[in-house]
Amino acid sequence: MKPTEKTPILLERLHEAHPDARYELNWSTPFELLVATILAAQCTDERVNRVTATLFQKYPGPQALADADSTALEEDLKPTGFYKQKTKAVQAMSRALLSQFGGEVPRTVDELVTLPGVARKTANVVLNTAFNLASGIIVDTHVARVSQRLGLTKHDKPEAIEEDLMRLVPQEQWTFFGPATVLHGRYTCTAKKPKCAECIIRDICPRVGV
Ligand code: SF4
Repeated sequence: MKPTEKTPILLERLHEAHPDARYELNWSTPFELLVATILAAQCTDERVNRVTATLFQKYPGPQALADADSTALEEDLKPTGFYKQKTKAVQAMSRALLSQFGGEVPRTVDELVTLPGVARKTANVVLNTAFNLASGIIVDTHVARVSQRLGLTKHDKPEAIEEDLMRLVPQEQWTFFGPATVLHGRYTCTAKKPKCAECIIRDICPRVGV
């Protein structure tokens, strides 16, 4: 089956399995989602949510994070791992957001990726999730793995995978496809020992590399 034939079936099954698919990071403003997404690198969403529950009360907005004492902030971010780099990244991003955008999270990928520590994936997470803008498709480790195993892409680089997916998935489905595929990858098509026997798309999956 060709990728163009597979994709509508995949979308239908994902809608059945994850009708309300959403990114699992907690946030109440676009800025909070931006920070949480930076903290989620090499860390589980669950752990990030535990940290941000108090972090966002302590530092409510970019000015507070930019002005924060770095040593104290490192302690706050320690449970998310790589806390020294993350402290630097979050503070540099907050300062740039204040100086370049008056503290407001911009609504385009091109503007977002000018912020330190913000790559295309993070930009898409914020635009797809906080603004419901179909700016592109979120390609994280889960989306990359599922897309490769399903034979939707032969690429390894996130940008190239995203281009393949944007050609296959209708744009009005982009904001759904990313979070739904993240959930499929996180809970079924896991990196080690994927649960193929109980997978909702096993009949259309060539299981490339499994
Ligand atoms: S059949 Fe297996 S490899 Fe294919 S998507 Fe499902 S879990 Fe992943």
